[in-house]
Parts: sequence; structure tokens; C-alpha cells
Amino acid sequence: MSARYPHLLAPLDLGHVTLRNRVLMGSMHVGLEEEGGRYEKLSAYFAARARGGVGLIVTGGVSPNAQGQLKPFAATLSTRRAARRHSYVTKAVHEAGGRIAMQILHAGRYAYHPLSVAPSRVKSPITPFSPFALGTRGVKKTIDNFARCAELAREAGYDGVEIMGSEGYLINQFLVERTNKRTDDWGGAYSNRMRFATEIVRRTREVCGPDFIIIYRLSMLDLVPDGSTWPEVLELAQAIEAAGASIINTGIGWHEARVPTIATMVPRAAFTWVTRRLKDAGVVSIPVVTSNRINTPEMAEEVLARGDADMVSMARPLLADPDFVVKAEGGRADEINTCIACNQACLDHVFQNKRASCLVNPFACYETELVSGPAESPRKVAVVGAGVAGLSAACVAAERGHDVTLFEARDDIGGQFDLARRIPGKEEFDETVRYFRRRMEVAGVKLQLGTRVRAADLRDGGFSAVIVATGVAPRTLSFDGADSDRVVSYPDAIHHPDRIGDRVAIIGAGGIGFDVAELLAAPREAKRTHPEIEEFMAEWGVNIDDWGRDDQAARGGLIDAHDPPSARTIYLCQRKATRHGQTLGKTTGWIHRKSLKKRGIHMLAGVRYSRVDEAGLHIEIDGENKVLEVDHVVVCAGQVEVTELVGHLKGSGLDVTVVGGASKAAELDAKRAIRQGAEAAARL
Ligand code: NAP
Ligand code: SF4
Repeated sequence: MSARYPHLLAPLDLGHVTLRNRVLMGSMHVGLEEEGGRYEKLSAYFAARARGGVGLIVTGGVSPNAQGQLKPFAATLSTRRAARRHSYVTKAVHEAGGRIAMQILHAGRYAYHPLSVAPSRVKSPITPFSPFALGTRGVKKTIDNFARCAELAREAGYDGVEIMGSEGYLINQFLVERTNKRTDDWGGAYSNRMRFATEIVRRTREVCGPDFIIIYRLSMLDLVPDGSTWPEVLELAQAIEAAGASIINTGIGWHEARVPTIATMVPRAAFTWVTRRLKDAGVVSIPVVTSNRINTPEMAEEVLARGDADMVSMARPLLADPDFVVKAEGGRADEINTCIACNQACLDHVFQNKRASCLVNPFACYETELVSGPAESPRKVAVVGAGVAGLSAACVAAERGHDVTLFEARDDIGGQFDLARRIPGKEEFDETVRYFRRRMEVAGVKLQLGTRVRAADLRDGGFSAVIVATGVAPRTLSFDGADSDRVVSYPDAIHHPDRIGDRVAIIGAGGIGFDVAELLAAPREAKRTHPEIEEFMAEWGVNIDDWGRDDQAARGGLIDAHDPPSARTIYLCQRKATRHGQTLGKTTGWIHRKSLKKRGIHMLAGVRYSRVDEAGLHIEIDGENKVLEVDHVVVCAGQVEVTELVGHLKGSGLDVTVVGGASKAAELDAKRAIRQGAEAAARL
């Protein structure tokens, strides 16, 4: 055991079983659950995490019946036949030395199909279907279905189940008056509203026996109006333990909540104070798990060492690196591929009904398909460009045994990530640059910085293969005055925000326009660090001061949000007449839009740009000519490919592959870049 993480790596005794450490792999639907060949793919995916040392894996949510499916044909466990198929997964995990629990999730009114059910006929703001209210018999049958599903999970070889009682799903819907308007034994007084949850746990224990792990995921902070109060949370936790749960896991925020809880701009471990307050209340004696934005062993250790929880849940960090735990154990934490909480390849995919993967680890969920074993015959390989596409290619090629030199014209690696990491709330991007730096050392990549390599150098240098990852250049514009000092490229603005005046127009409202607005809106003296947790909670209206201390605390843990003013007057302009931010991430776009709105950024759509002069930026909008009186105009109008080298390599006889932005700037996308780099190197 590493002396550095004594709390994280300590075993956890649950009575009938001892978990090898305090790392719980949090439940995450990855889309493999509904694919052909799912059991083989899921087995490989989970077994990799078991080999990587995770204490207890929790699967993505499996419905106990058809009504509870998140979408039609979503994973369900209600028959013996299905249980037999699940046993492939449990066997693979056990053979890899791990333990696995299956999450039982009934979506209730969050189900994306017309047969959804809920305690009452109250439609959710995030699905188009009105649920049917369960009758009294329906409630009892649903409890039976939960218990039967748990029994089948046990038959399938799972070490336990997690009963999903948070995030606004069915059980959560029973708990609060916002969604439970019933007047029978399952509604009204809190003791009635929580009976559905406690009955499910009680029946599950009854049918599964004492030597089976039952985790209950309890919504400790709903973050929606009319959510639970803190005394209700405590009462429920106590009742859940009495009903037979082995572990309580922390849930933060319903899906419909408008408070960011896991995005990259949320400070690390921002919500562990909630779990701590449950522990401090002294009402439960079973282990309590905390979660949300814990992505390094240092952070996990700190949270456990100060007593916030008995175990930490990490989901996305284990997509990013299946070997997170063994690397921490082996004193190799600097080799961990850190999840940057971008959601771009995981949650954004799942919400678009696509298979999840990981932006920084394209092998995640492709364990049986993207395979990169040792090369048959090692070659001398040149990779040109040390942005993330080139870094990914260089590392995979070197790990396969090739002799790899990575050339970079600038004096450091990182490319577009070097810009992203300078945006407030995107500091996690630093970790990816750190990771690749270390991975190159371990793999033995020869790095040549400050080298603008030419085709002749590559031809003469004895290379047999070249991977071109020369990236992109910002698009320049051609209106009058576009070459004046007032007009600045986005890389210049991001590197030197101090040189930008108090009034700014941004041309282009894609991801980078939003990022630049966020950067220029931040206080000039702001350090490049996440806000303090208290500051974050105040800005997003979370009742950190009173929640858990005052019985009268507002329901759901919400208070009025504080809107921090922008440090500059900013106009974010686009030619399209549509709403700003349509191309941003599915699960994070709303946060960026809300954040800029809170800062009073002026969003101008349907803009035509005429010229820039002493008066500012001349535009046409709604058929009228206007002048935006600004000191600077920052151009964030996309990129063009940098492909000069590719032309010069034509006819060289070298095996040339172009990856990342250099292959298609229009879709400049780190996820595609890292994956393309890895795939190109896997083919060599
Ligand atoms: P982008 O998303 O393509 O946006 C560039 C914007 O510039 C367009 O929305 C376009 O809007 C405008 N534009 C294009 N050509 C123009 C021209 N000739 N004159 C004036 N305006 C022009 O590119 P990006 O913002 O550079 O982002 C690059 C990539 O990084 C994208 O894939 C993006 O998703 C990703 N990224 C995402 C995030 C995030 O999700 N938070 C953050 C950073 C980067 P109009 O045509 O309407 O004017
Ligand atoms: Fe983390 Fe982004 Fe990978 Fe998702 S895609 S696991 S958020 S790094």
C-alpha cells in the first residue's frame, strides 16, 4: 500500500465482505448496455477497471421493469434468462479480482417513452411525456419488481445492488411534494412519502439475505424548488439504514436542476461538505460514500482524511484511466490520465444515444475494438506537432515499440489545450498536458521542441512513417480595418488578456468565443484557479451556510444566486440569427450560456460586420447600422488547417498520415484529435 494514500487505500470491512480499498466506481450508463455483443464489451470494460484496482464497481442503471426504462429497450433485468447473460460480466470482474454491484434504476417521469409512470401525473421539464400516476397496486408491484430485480442480480453473480434513490428518478419523485401529490399511504406526510424508498430496501434485504451489498443512493441536496429539507434527508438516511442498507451513497442535484454539479467549472470535491454533514449528524453508522468532481488520488485522500466520507465515488475518472488505483498504489500517480470533467465524450454521447468513450482516453468502452498491441516490426516514426493529436499518436506509437521523434515548432507541448487551460474554470486541461508530458517520458518519445521540421529533414532523417499533426491557425477576416491594432486573434487575447481594453466585441460565438468572453469577463486580478467552494455556491444559489444547520433551511438547498458583474463590457456577436451557444456541449452548453448571462454579456445575433476604425466595430443588425464603441475586437471565427508540410511530403515515398485539426479544421475537436492520433499509431 502506498504510504501517500493511507485512507484511500485502506480496506473497508462490510461484515460479510471486505472491499480492497475506498474507491467506488460510480454508476454510469455508457451505451454498451443496449448494443449487440454487449456482454462481451461490458465484460472487457469492467474487467479492465477491476484489474486496475477499483474497490467496488457499480454498473450503469438497469431497470426493474419496462415502465422504468430510461428509453425504449433500455437495459432491464426481470427474467432468469437475462440474469444468465449478466453472469458473463460478473464472472469477468471476479476473475480480474474485482467486485461489482448492479444499479437498479427506475426512471419514473424521466423516462423517455410514452408509458412512463410516476407517483403523480406531473410532467418533468426535461422530457416530453406526461407520466401516468401509479395506482396503489402499481406502487406495490413496482416494489416487487425492484426486489425481484435485486434477487436476479444476485443470481447473476453480482456482489450487490445500488438502489438509485437520487438525481430525480422515481424513488426521489416519491420523496418530495414537488412530484408526489398523492393522498393515499404513499403521499402526504413525509413518513408516507419515504415509505416507497424504505420498502424497496427492506424487501431487497429480505429476498437477497444478509451477505449481499445494498447501496442506497440518497439525494442529499436536490437543488430544485420544493425539494427535500435537511431534516427529511436525515430521517430518510436513518430509515434506510434500519431497512437494511449496507452503504449510503451521496446524490447531488436532480437532472432538471439548474446548478452545475459535475462540469469542469465546478471546483474539485465541491459537494463533499454535504456528505460530511450527514456523517456529523451521527444518525447513521453504515459507511457513507461521497462524490462529484473528485478526480485525483490526492483529492480523494484529502476528502477521506478529513472525515467527509468513508469512501469516494468516481465514475468519469475511471473512464479516463482504468488503472487509476494501481497507479496510485504503485507511487505512479503522475501517470494517471486525469478526467478533465469536459463531458464531451461521455455524458454528451449518452444524451445523444451514442456510445460513451472518453476525450482523453479513446480506448474507454472500445476495449475490444481499439487494440494497440506491440508492433510487428518497429519503425522509425516522426510525429509533427505536439498538440493533443500528435501527443496521442507519439505515445501510442512509442508504447507499441516504434522509435518515435515528436517535433514541435513552439517551445512547449499542448497546442489548443495550452489555450483552453488558461480559461477560468478550464484549469483541468492542464492535467492532460501534464499527463502526456509524463507518458512521453515513460514511453521513450524523443521530443524536439522549437523545431520547425521540413520535409527534407524527414526524408533525410531515415524515417519510414510520418504522422502530421500540425493543427490549425485562427481564421483571419478581411473587412476594412481588420488588420488594425484593435483587432486581436483569440490566441493573442487568451495569452495576454491584460492587453485588452474595457470594452470588447467578440466576433464568433462558438466554443472559443464563449471561452474568450468568460476569460475577459473575469476580474482582471483573478488568479487562474477555480473559485472557492463558498464562492461557487453563492454564484449558483446553493445554501451552503444553512443547509444542514438550520431546520428551516429552504427546500432543495437553494437560495437566491449572486450574479458577479463582468470586468468588461462585452459584446458576443454572431452572424446567425439563432440563439447563441447551439454548438456547445449537450450537457454543458446551458452552463456556459447561463454563466455569461449572469455576467451581463451582450449577446448579438444576426450581425453583419462592416469595418473597424477609431470609433469601434461598425455592424449592421436588424437592418440598422450601429457602432459598437469598443477598444478591441477579438476574432474567434474558427480555424483553417495548417497543411504546408503535407504538400511538401507528397512524392517523398514516406508513409504519411494526417490527424487532428490539420486533417479537418472545421471540426476542430479534441476528442476526434486524440482518437485519430491513437488510431493512426495503432495501425503502424
Ligand atoms: P466554431 O465553433 O466553428 O465557431 C466559430 C464561429 O465563428 C462560428 O460560430 C461562426 O458563427 C463564426 N464565423 C465563422 N466564419 C466566420 C467569418 N468568416 N466571419 C465571421 N464569423 C465567422 O469554432 P470555435 O469557436 O473556434 O471552436 C472550435 C472547436 O472547438 C469547436 O468544435 C468547438 O465545439 C470546440 N470548443 C468547444 C468548447 C465548448 O464546448 N465549451 C470550447 C472551446 C472549443 P457565425 O457564422 O454565426 O458568425
Ligand atoms: Fe472525463 Fe471528459 Fe473523459 Fe468524460 S470525456 S471521462 S468528462 S475527460
